[in-house]
Parts: sequence; structure tokens; C-alpha cells
Amino acid sequence: VPIERYRNFCIVAHIDHGKSTLSDRLLELTGTISASDSNKQILDKLDVERERGITVKAQTCTMLYNHRGEDYLIHLVDTPGHVDFRAEVTRSYASCGGALLLVDASQGIQAQTASNFHLAFAQDLALVPVINKIDMVSADVPRVLEQIETSFELDPKDAVLVSAKTGKGVDRILPAVIEKIPNPVGDEKKPLKMLLVDSWYDNFRGVVLLVRVFDGIIRAGDNVVSLGTGMKYTVGQVGIQYPDATPQSVLRAGQVGYVFFNPGMKKIQDAKLGDTFTTIQDEDAVEPYPGFEEPKPMVFVAAFPTDQSDYSKVADSISQLVLNDRSVTLQKAFSEALGSGWRLGFLGSLHCSVFQDRLKQEHGGDVILTEPTVPTKIIWADGSEEVVQNPMQFPDASDQRLRSAQLFEPFVRATITMPEEYLGRVIELCEANRGEQKKLDFFHSTQVILIYDLPAAQLVDDFFGKLKGATKGYATLDYEDAGWREGKLVKLQLLVNKQPVDAICRVVHTSQVDRLGRQWVSKFKEHVQRQMFEIIIQAATGNRIVARETIKAFRKDVLAKLHAADITRRRKLLEKQKEGRKRLRSIGNVVIEQAAFQKFLSK
Ligand code: GDP
Ligand code: MG
Repeated sequence: VPIERYRNFCIVAHIDHGKSTLSDRLLELTGTISASDSNKQILDKLDVERERGITVKAQTCTMLYNHRGEDYLIHLVDTPGHVDFRAEVTRSYASCGGALLLVDASQGIQAQTASNFHLAFAQDLALVPVINKIDMVSADVPRVLEQIETSFELDPKDAVLVSAKTGKGVDRILPAVIEKIPNPVGDEKKPLKMLLVDSWYDNFRGVVLLVRVFDGIIRAGDNVVSLGTGMKYTVGQVGIQYPDATPQSVLRAGQVGYVFFNPGMKKIQDAKLGDTFTTIQDEDAVEPYPGFEEPKPMVFVAAFPTDQSDYSKVADSISQLVLNDRSVTLQKAFSEALGSGWRLGFLGSLHCSVFQDRLKQEHGGDVILTEPTVPTKIIWADGSEEVVQNPMQFPDASDQRLRSAQLFEPFVRATITMPEEYLGRVIELCEANRGEQKKLDFFHSTQVILIYDLPAAQLVDDFFGKLKGATKGYATLDYEDAGWREGKLVKLQLLVNKQPVDAICRVVHTSQVDRLGRQWVSKFKEHVQRQMFEIIIQAATGNRIVARETIKAFRKDVLAKLHAADITRRRKLLEKQKEGRKRLRSIGNVVIEQAAFQKFLSK
């Protein structure tokens, strides 16, 4: 098949609008999988992705399709639908010439449709509108056609109307892809120029690379070099996903496929996404691509094994997972309350919970995670900047240097869509979370698009859950980084018998201090057993106590058997008891079982 008959495309959609179902239909239609194949949703490979209906890693699948008597080689590159994985979405787009803009006929445009459209548009992708779920009684095709025209300026006459479920209209998609999406350009006679789009770790092959060949050809035995790392490799195998890894003799300019080396690439860190590869002899002749920006972690949690004797087992599981997800950052951590563990950085809160689920599902690791936190930026009086990721390392409120320093917290720009009837409640929620309204648009009077700037700290505090609660699940949310903003921030700590508990500490906006402090204290109290001595639980910012609870000691009734008259003996006994309590109190922190901290953190 010549390059003029290649097409590389992806599907841009809001979650649940039918991307996976439609992909399966297209694979069936081209005979790539059989219709009776019980293993549906070929592109959503990991269990957790299937379960949550999200795609985390970009996958690709090749199809052969005959159109008007000619064979076409079509690559469908699946892209993650979720906001936290924007960097991966951008990378997938870089290997495509166009995209299907898939919209659910009963839902219309939603937050992720809009944000992914803007990303795809910015990368010059040719867009083919596809309206799905036309079989549903609640489908309103004319309304959705009007939406795509007014908001995306796409011609409704180009739209393909389908039901991925019944298969109706699906046969018109690939002809539209062939006619509307340009073929890749590239010259297979030029030196090899290959872009690294994605990678994953395989126990047998080492790191497998998903690549887009722009120029030249690549085959097993070629000696190649990474222009990003300078490291040299010998190609072990090249191939395409059809739908599983299928070896090929060559990959040519314009193709998307996989490559692994022999000996295999050992570390996933050596596969720098956006890196350019060429052959050793052409190293000086090929200009590398600019590369992709490394995503920065924005949500941090600390993780500790529930049982310290499981430390090395859990450590293995975590490093296995990190091996496949370079966007997670990992450091060792120690907590007096919880023992040895790790600090992990994630792109966002969903990314964080996906990781947590994988840890449980794939490795059975039993891990306690602290509440998610976001970084804080300090500009000191002398102008120097510092970004503090670990709240425990943030200076105490009593630190004099803070008086002349400026503090900043990360903000996000959130796009929220919802039916109009919930608008009031959503605005209330955003305002209560320190949001600042940026834009309000009515789509066809029933659907509202609301744009708010929100502190990232509020977003990680289960904002999505609250939003769903306020709208009976009808709202959709997407967000992008909106930079640092100055704010009045302080370190809030939980104290037990005046000692800070290192695992429970956060940098928060002063307006949140009282609410959060009270919440911590009463929640922690629930989990602490009454003991022989008094336990004082406090939330504090520096010297200011924000909230306090006391757990009374059991009082051994040492006086019960005494005559009231025996005063000296009575006094002596009471003094003895007091001393005993003092001793216990002095070791108060240690007596609190680890289980209490674990219960507090696991909600
Ligand atoms: P994704 O999140 O975009 O990958 O969406 P899925 O393909 O997983 O589909 C989400 C849900 O919509 C599933 O329950 C599908 O069965 C259903 N669905 C997908 N396409 C259609 C369709 O054309 N009609 C109807 N009625 N349901 C559909
Ligand atoms: Mg899906």
C-alpha cells in the first residue's frame, strides 16, 4: 500500500459518548476482529480502564479497508479521554492527520468534547463530525448538529449519523475518513526520522515503543540512535497492532507501529516521549523534533504499607507501576505515625485514583494513602523562588521569614457543562470553593457551559464528587492549568498531645483553616481509643489552635474502698495515681495505635 493510501486518525469524544464501542465496530467491519469476538473494547487494555471506562495509555490499531477497489492502511490511534492525561492526548494527535469528533446525540457537546476539540484544532487536525447513539429515543440530532455548527464552526452537512450499538451508519465512517482526512506525508527514501509517541514495559521485550515513522523505513537489525539521549540500539522487531502485536518486515514513512530492541531497552525513563530516532549513519543529517513538554505532577500523596512487614512487597508493586507510567514521580518518605513509605506525584486527582486502583487490582498491595495535596510556591524577600511539594517542609506559621515572603498556589481553569436547572447550585459550589467566574454560555437554552478559575487545592478536595452530587450526576468537568496565584496560605497541622502528627499536615488558604481544622479534629477523635490518660487532639497553624477535642481518661476509682476520714492516705493515693498518669501521658503519642491514623486517612 503506497503512502497516499495511509490514513492515521483518532476519535475525539467526551467519556461515554461511545468511542470504545465505535472502535470495536470499525475493527469488526474491516475484519480486524470477528463480530463474535467476546473480548470487546480491544483498545481499552487494562482492567482499570475497562472498569472505569477510560483509556489511560494511548493504543493503536491498524485496519485494512477496501474503498472503491483500492486497499487502504488505516491506523486508529486511541487517545485518553480524561483531562489528567492531556499530555498523552497531545502526543497521540501528533501522529494523526485527522480525527472523528464524536458526540452523543442525546447529550450534545460536553466539557471534554469542547476541550479536546480545541486541542485537536490547535494541531491542525482535519475533523469529521460523527453523531452517535441516534437509536436512542432521547436523541436530538438537529440540536446537536446546530451545536457543532455554532460552537465548532463545522459544516453539519459533513456529519455522519451513526449508532455504534446497532451498527447503523457505521459503514459511512471509513469512506469519510479516506475522503476528508489527508494522508500522511513522508519520504521513505530519506534518512529514517521516527517520533516516539508512547511506550510501555514488557517483561520479555523490555520497553516497547509506539512510533510514527515520518521519513525513511525501519526494519529488524537496523542500528538506531535516540537524538534525545544519544543512546544506540539494534532493532529487534517492528510491527503493527492488528489488533495484537503483529510483526512486519518493515515500517515505512507514514506508518504508526511498534518497535522494540535487542537487547531490549531496560528503563522506561530512556524512552523520552517526543524523542526522535534515526539510524546511526544519519545521526548528523536528521533534525530532531522539538519534543514534548514533560508534564509536571500537580497532586501529591504519601503512601505507606498498612503492615510494615509488607514494605518490600509493596515497594516492588509500586516500582512496577511507575515503570509503566512515567508521569508518576516517586520518592522515599518516612512518617513517625505510619513508618516507611513513599511520596508520589500525579498529574491530577483522577490520575492519582487510577494509580491507587491499579495498585490494588494488579498487585494486591495494601496501602494507606494520605489526603492529596498540591504544591505551594514561595517568593522570598530576596527574590528567590522555592516550590514546596511536601507540606511538612513548608515553614511554620511562626517563621519570621514568611512575613516578607509572597505565597502562591496553583489554579486551574475549569469548564463545566450542565442542564440549566442546576446552574444556581453549581455557581454556589464554585463560589464556596473560592472560584472566580470567567464565562457563562447558554447552548440552546438547555445546556450551559460555565468557565471558572478554581484553586487546584479545592479541586483535589473531591470537587468532582460534590459537583456530581449537586447536579444528580449531570454535570461534566474538564480543566487546564491556569498558573500560580498569590494567596494567603498557612500550614495546618494535626497535634496529638501537643505533638505534630507528620502524616496529617496541609498548606491551606486561611479561609479554609477553621472548617478543615474542625473536620480533622472530630474525625480523628472517632478513631482514637480511650486510654488511661487524657488525649488532646488539636488542629493548629503555628501557635494558633484552630480546633480542639479531648478524649477523657478512664479513671480508676482508687478511692472506692476507703473511708472518707482517712485523709492522708487518700491524698497519698491520689498523688500516686497522678504520677502514673503523667508517665503514660509522656509516651502518649506512641500509645496511639497506627490503626487510628490509618482509619483517619482511609476515610
Ligand atoms: P467511551 O467512554 O466513549 O469509550 O464509551 P463506550 O463505547 O464505552 O460507550 C458508553 C456506553 O454507551 C456503553 O454503555 C455503550 O454500550 C453505550 N453506547 C455506545 N454507543 C451507543 C449507541 O450507538 N447507542 C446506544 N443506545 N448506546 C451506545
Ligand atoms: Mg472507552
